Amino acid sequence: MYQSESLKINEQGHLEFGGCDTLSLAKEYQTPLYVMDEQVIRNNCKQYRQSMEECYGGHGLVLYASKAFSCKEMYRIAMEEGLGVDVVSGGELYTALSVGFPAEKICFHGNNKTKEELEMAVKTGVGYIVVDSREELSLLNAIAGERKVKQPILCRMKPGIDAHTHSFVQTGHIDCKFGTVLENGDSFDFAKLAAAQPNLTLLGVHCHVGSQIFDEKPFLLAAERMMDFVVQVREILGVTLKVLNLGGGYGIRYTEQDQPIAYGDYMKKISEAIKSIAHDRNVELPFILMEPGRSIVGEAGITLYTVGSVKKIPDVRTFVSVDGGMSDNPRYILYQAEYEMLLSNKAKEEKTASVTVAGKCCESGDLLGENVALQEAKAGDILAVLSTGAYNYSMASNYNRIPRAAVVMVKDGASRVIVRRESYEDLIRNDV
Ligand SMILES: *Cc1c(COP(=O)(O)O)cnc(C)c1O
Repeated sequence: MYQSESLKINEQGHLEFGGCDTLSLAKEYQTPLYVMDEQVIRNNCKQYRQSMEECYGGHGLVLYASKAFSCKEMYRIAMEEGLGVDVVSGGELYTALSVGFPAEKICFHGNNKTKEELEMAVKTGVGYIVVDSREELSLLNAIAGERKVKQPILCRMKPGIDAHTHSFVQTGHIDCKFGTVLENGDSFDFAKLAAAQPNLTLLGVHCHVGSQIFDEKPFLLAAERMMDFVVQVREILGVTLKVLNLGGGYGIRYTEQDQPIAYGDYMKKISEAIKSIAHDRNVELPFILMEPGRSIVGEAGITLYTVGSVKKIPDVRTFVSVDGGMSDNPRYILYQAEYEMLLSNKAKEEKTASVTVAGKCCESGDLLGENVALQEAKAGDILAVLSTGAYNYSMASNYNRIPRAAVVMVKDGASRVIVRRESYEDLIRNDV
């Protein structure tokens, strides 16, 4: 098991998370169960804020990218920790606003926001709308005009960076649906058009180079290219881009092989690069926005399951089936994402088996992992999958009409439900 401040093995030999015995949690709240450690989330928020203070004089704002894990309590925590948030849909925006999240600290992006979503964002006073296309630019300008407001915007662009990560999560290179292309001048033309819209205020530009990145180079390179663009826009158009949104994508630890760089280090280097370019090229130091999602909540969550069957197929593999699967964690079937797993009730025992962990959905591909090192499993064991705080609950579905699992927040040995388990009645609520 990898080292973490909230993971422990207690005297009974059970896995403990955030001071709570995971077997007791499984018993009290049933499985499958998402468990999040509040202290870890808050510490991550604090560290991001602090590094923005220390490295960049606080001339920026950390936005929690809420698509990683979105529910009312998470928006409350982000708000209490002084972060802004990133939303990508009317639903996320609605949830954030429902707990009184200050609209001016919300950034709304997405490659194809609907008219209704844009109207909602303008009406509620969202601080930053990241405009992704020409269609959206004219639509948003018209909406702002009708409401007689000047809507602040950022322009999404692709700085042409191929971050080394899974190809599904690369978003900074040319062949990608988001934003405009920097290299061929499209981003420049787009910024020119944006600056000319009477009902929009062009605040700056936005990029996001990928996700689960461990290498600082793509971030640095993106920051440099974005600064070059800021200089170019000022020189040619006479427009000062005051805000630079550098996106998210900082890697976390899923397995022991993953070695994340401390975000303070990224922040330090990125700040230095931006300050030096601003100084050398004589442009105003931009206000920086950063959008970490996974790195705020990923390691703060685990998922608990109950083992149902164990099928040993000689010379083939052993299937350990659990009571959840792709319905609560589709990341293995989407990206072959790797996770560290252990049996909570046998946490002290050695992992002598190598198994395939299967879900309960009606899909052969419904797996949570292959070649997983695990203690000898049998029916009734509680399986813990680590680092499931990001892109698990938020990607959950009702496939096979499986009710979505509950989310329990733990802190210093206490636990509370923050998202109730769905019931069968919930499943048919909208059926007519
Ligand atoms: C997904 C996304 C993020 C968050 O990425 P993480 O890898 O979770 O940090 C930030 N910004 C944008 C635009 C995104 O699409």
